[in-house]
Order: sequence, then structure tokens, then C-alpha cells
Amino acid sequence: MKGDAGPEAMFVAGGTDLYPNMKRRHQEPRTVISLMAIPELGKMESENVGTCVTLTALSNFPSFQRSAIATAARLVSTPLLRNMGTLGGNLCLDTRCNYYNQSYEWRKAIDFCMKKDGAICWVAPSSPRCWAVNSSDIAPVMVAIGAEYRLVGPQGERVVPAGRFYHNDGIIYLTKQPDEILTEVRLPAPDGWDAVYHKLRRRGSFDFPVLGVAAWVRWDGTKVGDATIVLGGVASYPQEVPEAASALRGMTLGAETIAAAAEAAYRPSKPMDNTDFDLSWRKQMTRVYVTRALEELRSRRP
Ligand SMILES: Cc1cc2nc3c(=O)[nH]c(=O)nc-3n(C[C@H](O)[C@H](O)[C@H](O)COP(=O)(O)OP(=O)(O)OC[C@H]3O[C@@H](n4cnc5c(N)ncnc54)[C@H](O)[C@@H]3O)c2cc1C
Ligand code: SF4
Repeated sequence: MKGDAGPEAMFVAGGTDLYPNMKRRHQEPRTVISLMAIPELGKMESENVGTCVTLTALSNFPSFQRSAIATAARLVSTPLLRNMGTLGGNLCLDTRCNYYNQSYEWRKAIDFCMKKDGAICWVAPSSPRCWAVNSSDIAPVMVAIGAEYRLVGPQGERVVPAGRFYHNDGIIYLTKQPDEILTEVRLPAPDGWDAVYHKLRRRGSFDFPVLGVAAWVRWDGTKVGDATIVLGGVASYPQEVPEAASALRGMTLGAETIAAAAEAAYRPSKPMDNTDFDLSWRKQMTRVYVTRALEELRSRRP
């Protein structure tokens, strides 16, 4: 169907991101192709999840109950949107910006911007690129735990690490081709690792993250054998912070180690002035949220 409809067609799953975007003329497909009736995309196994599984189902799946995936799914928006919204749609979410997520008339009044219909970036007028923000709650978790995505398209199928699926650009934010379907997410076996997700937003429900912290550790006895820290809501892609992971490896998760990792995550966290809250305060909160995430991991250490 996509081949027949050509480049002006888009896939849709729950439609909770695409349809509002179509109303505001951010995305203007002539044809939308629903993926929801493909049975394989609705499968749910503990290490293999179809992308049309709803966020509500993901939150309630017994083997995910304590997992960072369920936490992140539960923190998305509101119950109504979680009943419609899917895992795949969340992982392919359009990037967001105060100058973009507005009505067509609002955007027209400022002569639009580079991401759609315009020429310049209002956030960084001398910049050649768009800085719109990756605002998915689940994507940082998938990158942190080392999940893999299976993509199927006319050229065949391929499996990519979650971290390679995202591109640090507000316009071309996915490495996926437009005619590829994200069909499933492969999760690593639960063998000695743990992960948590913490989210900053204005209201306790409804709002997109303005900062998300996904933290993953593999325990080596009482020490951290390996770790990954990923920030959401501060860049056009889920931003891994290798410096923070280095501060944790081989260490006991004490207050000093946690503070060193939080400081290491704070430095490269460079939110732009294009989402809610003051940007310098958001940067400061990186320290606080990384600290909280690591303290939670410490409290769960086996
Ligand atoms: C008021 C409001 C608040 C929200 N708050 C949050 C929030 O706090 N956190 C958050 O993360 N999100 C939030 N969202 C965004 C959205 O509801 C969720 O991210 C949801 O999971 C999107 O899934 P969907 O199935 O509805 O996506 P859709 O709208 O169907 O699709 C989104 C995009 O993904 C593509 N797509 C979907 N599935 C596939 C697939 N399998 N393969 C290839 N491409 C695909 C579509 O073509 C489209 O470009 C909010 C939305 C609204 C309207
Ligand atoms: S970052 Fe700049 S180009 Fe991108 S959506 Fe915002 S104003 Fe537009």
C-alpha cells in the first residue's frame, strides 16, 4: 500500500501524535495507512514486543511491572492517550519545539520556521539546523537498556540498536526510511541488570518530558560492572552521556560516586530555549534527576 501511495503516504498507529500534527499542518500526508490490524505487531512477549501494543498494555504487562519500560509508558500523557497511543508511535514521535507545536495561523504569523514551511530557526537564528527536541518517554529507556529495533521495508528487513535509530537533527530525527515499518522491539534478557526512568514536567500528568533520565546498571556483586545514562528532552535525540557511565564503572554506588556521575551528566546536558521552563533551571535539574535515578537503582540493588 505504501509503495502504491508513494512518498505522500504515512503510516499511522494510535494517531495521537500524527492526527494533531495533521490538524496543525505540520505533517500533510495525502494517505494514511493504519498498522493496527497487522496481528504480528500486537504480540507481547517478555523479550519481544510488537510496536502496535498500546502504552496501557505495556504498563500492565506482568513481566514489565517493575521495569523502566512500564514506568516510562505509565508516565506518558493521560490514560485516554495511553489507551490509543502505541509503543511504535512513541519511539517514532515527531520532535517538538515551542515555535513548531502551534496552530498553522500562529506559525504563519511568525513566517514559519525551518522545520516546516519556513527558512530560519527562531531558537538559534544563525544555526543551519533545527534543534527541536526528542520528547519520547520510552526512547531514552530503550537506548539505555540496549534494546534493538526490527525494521521491515521494501528492501527487506534489518535490526538496529535503539541508539542508532535516532539522529541528532530536529527535522531528520530518525535513521529509518519513510517506507520502513518498525515492527518489533527486542529487549535484552534480564540477567543481572536493572534500569529506572525519571521524568521532569510541569504537571504530574498530560505533559511531555522537558527532561527524562534513563539509567541502566549491570551489577558486579556490590559494585557497578557497567552503566549507561541517557537524557531525554534535552536534544533532538536520546542523548547518551558516556562520561557519566565512566564515573560509575567499577564503583560502589555511594553518595560520592552518584554525585560524580550527576556532575558528569550535567556538563553535556545543553537544553535549548524551545520547551517548557527556564533552560538554565532545566540544565540544573539534570544533576538532581540523575542523582534520584541512581539513588533508586541503589535502593533496588539485589
Ligand atoms: C496531549 C498529548 C500529550 C502527550 N504526552 C506525551 C508524553 O508525555 N510523553 C510521550 O512520550 N508522548 C506524549 N504524547 C505523544 C503520543 O501520544 C505518544 O508518544 C504515543 O505513544 C504515540 O503513539 P501513536 O501510536 O499514537 O503514534 P502515531 O500518532 O500513530 O504515530 C506517530 C508517528 O510514528 C509513526 N509510526 C507509528 N507507528 C509506526 C511504526 N510501527 N512504524 C513506523 N512508523 C510508525 C507515524 O507515521 C507517525 O509519524 C502526547 C500526545 C498528546 C496529544
Ligand atoms: S528548533 Fe528552530 S527550526 Fe526547529 S522547530 Fe524550533 S524554531 Fe523551528
